[in-house]
Amino acid sequence: MVVVMKERATEVQIDAVIARLIELGMDVHRSSGATRTVLGVVGAHKVDPELIGILDGVHEVLRITEPYKRASRTFKPDDTVVVLDDVRIGGDEVIVMAGPCSAETDEQVMASAAAVKRAGAKVLRGGAFKPRSSPYSFQGHGEKGLQMLRRAGDAHNLKVISEVMDVSQIELIGKYADIYQVGARNMQNYTLLRELGNVRKPVLLKRGISATIEEWLLSAEYILAGGNTEVILCERGIRTFETATRNTFDISAIPVVKKLSHLPIVADPSHGAGRRDMVAQLARAAVAAGADGLIIEVHNDPDRALSDGAQSMYPAQFDRLMAELRIIAPAIGRSICLEPMARRGWAR
Ligand code: PEP
Ligand code: MN
Repeated sequence: MVVVMKERATEVQIDAVIARLIELGMDVHRSSGATRTVLGVVGAHKVDPELIGILDGVHEVLRITEPYKRASRTFKPDDTVVVLDDVRIGGDEVIVMAGPCSAETDEQVMASAAAVKRAGAKVLRGGAFKPRSSPYSFQGHGEKGLQMLRRAGDAHNLKVISEVMDVSQIELIGKYADIYQVGARNMQNYTLLRELGNVRKPVLLKRGISATIEEWLLSAEYILAGGNTEVILCERGIRTFETATRNTFDISAIPVVKKLSHLPIVADPSHGAGRRDMVAQLARAAVAAGADGLIIEVHNDPDRALSDGAQSMYPAQFDRLMAELRIIAPAIGRSICLEPMARRGWAR
């Protein structure tokens, strides 16, 4: 449930309500808005709303009707911002994560990292453990791949995101990556989600290929319920009857999620389109629709990529896309990395 405090509720009253709820065995999340304080309350027990409604300073007690609680905007009205030093995901700035589908060689990861950094990306993506549709396809380099990503991230001042496929990989990936990626195929791997609730690092949770938005938010709830509040959602396209693109990129999921949840949402137009000549269009649309960021496959030599080459952008294409996003983002009141412009002198 949600306890909405009166506009003029005092700190003493708020603290007393929180203390009572904790005494009843509940978890309380406090959101202090400009005018009112809202307490999101969840727990295994049932608490009589009337008992809480009569406490001093309480305006009203509402039930959270959504099946997901902690992920809902009712529970926490203000946007969640995931902070990694100077990288803020879910704030004003549109954060772009980019890099190859898989970490293949040191040279490839380093060259891709240099290219995406130059264009204005803030996070380096790359898989070391790859969920491939065929067991005969390249499965990733494991720890060696993680080392390549970390070296390139450090060399180019980029945060690193990499996919975790199994509980047994959590500790190892945590040594090298700044953000865990949960792939579409694992969105309902509840054992994995539960374990990621215990880590204190952000998790980017991709939407399953045939998951509804409600199922996706319930998966986020597993991570949040474990105490990890840093969940980033990622729309990457869903399976429909359409075969012209690899998946059907669900643009409407972006405003829907923004309405239902406080969690940041980023878009993956690469897996949405499945072909590099359509990635920029979807990326532009996602930013215009309100995405907090993008995750895009960029490879220094995509024609020789070991995975997802056809959808990986050439560095020059990505650079151009970033320039276009610099026009779109301010049009909807967002900012985006301006370093490359300043470096090239376009800002003057
Ligand atoms: C990936 O990011 O390379 C990937 C495997 O994505 P998804 O889980 O969305 O298919
Ligand atoms: Mn990929």
